[in-house]
Amino acid sequence: MEVKVLGAAREVGRSAFQINCDGANLLLDYGVMFGNPRGSPPTYPLHVKPRDIDSVIITHAHLDHSGCVPSLFVSGNCNVYATPPTFDLSKLLIKDMLKIEKNSHSFDIPELNNMMQHAKQIQFKEKIVRGDTKFELRSSGHVLGGSTVLVESDKKKLFYTGDINLRGSRMLPPADLDIGDVDLLITESTYSQEKQTPRSKSEHDFLEFANEVMDRKGILFVPSFSVERSQEIACVLENANFKHRVIMDGMALKVNEIILKHPEYLKEPEIFKDVLDKVVAIDEHRQRKNALSEPCVVISPAGMLVGGNAVYYLQQLAFDDKNGIALVSYQGEGTPGKKLLDTGKVSTRGKEMHVTAQVKQFQFSGHADRDSLFDMIKNIKGNPKVLTVHGDNNSCIKFAEEIHEKFGLDAIAPKIDDTVSI
Ligand SMILES: [Zn+2]
Repeated sequence: MEVKVLGAAREVGRSAFQINCDGANLLLDYGVMFGNPRGSPPTYPLHVKPRDIDSVIITHAHLDHSGCVPSLFVSGNCNVYATPPTFDLSKLLIKDMLKIEKNSHSFDIPELNNMMQHAKQIQFKEKIVRGDTKFELRSSGHVLGGSTVLVESDKKKLFYTGDINLRGSRMLPPADLDIGDVDLLITESTYSQEKQTPRSKSEHDFLEFANEVMDRKGILFVPSFSVERSQEIACVLENANFKHRVIMDGMALKVNEIILKHPEYLKEPEIFKDVLDKVVAIDEHRQRKNALSEPCVVISPAGMLVGGNAVYYLQQLAFDDKNGIALVSYQGEGTPGKKLLDTGKVSTRGKEMHVTAQVKQFQFSGHADRDSLFDMIKNIKGNPKVLTVHGDNNSCIKFAEEIHEKFGLDAIAPKIDDTVSI
């Protein structure tokens, strides 16, 4: 079994791994890496010819895992495997990316449509056979329909975590690690070197902030990723019996519809339906203006304030000290959200303005934290060789060193274009 690393090597973004075993050629993820700052050209994984691939497997809809798959349909095609929610969410997110980053990709809507025509929807634990090789998806706990991948061939077994959450969330059960012996583990390293705030503390602090803002008759604005984070925040508020209105806007509403189409992937579908029944959905501008007439929580993408209706709410709410802004998503370098955190300023109508609303950040990550990454490795049987990927340079290298020291496993942080055999 051979793995060629096409992306996510000592970097977060453009995940892509080419697996060659017993004549089967699989591609695990094919994502983009956004420019820095967003708006500069995106980077793709190393090139692969579609004719050299039998099957592409998309672990989950986030664009750093799915965003580049349509590029394989410019001059060829291949089968694409993923869960039904992953296809629905990928289509939505890739379309949105093509709209925002007009003319900066090698593909467009026709290639996305072609990709969808080659979509093979599979369920968790459904085994797909390619010659002497088989693969299956397992739940990753990261986003709706998100998966890890098991590839088995020639008595060798590979486990690829994609993005994994081992503790679960209000919406999703934890990742399924009932996977038996593993010979090669490709693991994400995003938070391998960083302690995350425990979820219970993040929820407590966030709710306290929300209530403080309500008590002073302000509005709490929560810029949030449209997939998962927006809905997760609504679930956190509902679970705490939050008494004020919760408003949701923008692409998060389209994501809600997709989630409701696939309730079997949720931890507690009935509770989720109740949450959405109570949320006030905003779908026209007049409603948007009226919605801000009394204390409430506004959840709206984009999570890093890069675009979407979040820009409108920022202009309306950022310059009143009764209001609050809760940043609950990761804030990438060069984004308006990161600038707000670092300087307390935003650019609005061409001017730099000091925000007077109270700004706080809360960690609600969908990734495994440092402790659970080590727990996962301790519990995986078979003394696997380990590749640490999907983390910055230091996170991947240090994580590999620590895995070797703690567990005596052969662990490396591969470089891009490396090929690893077992
Ligand atoms: Zn992800």
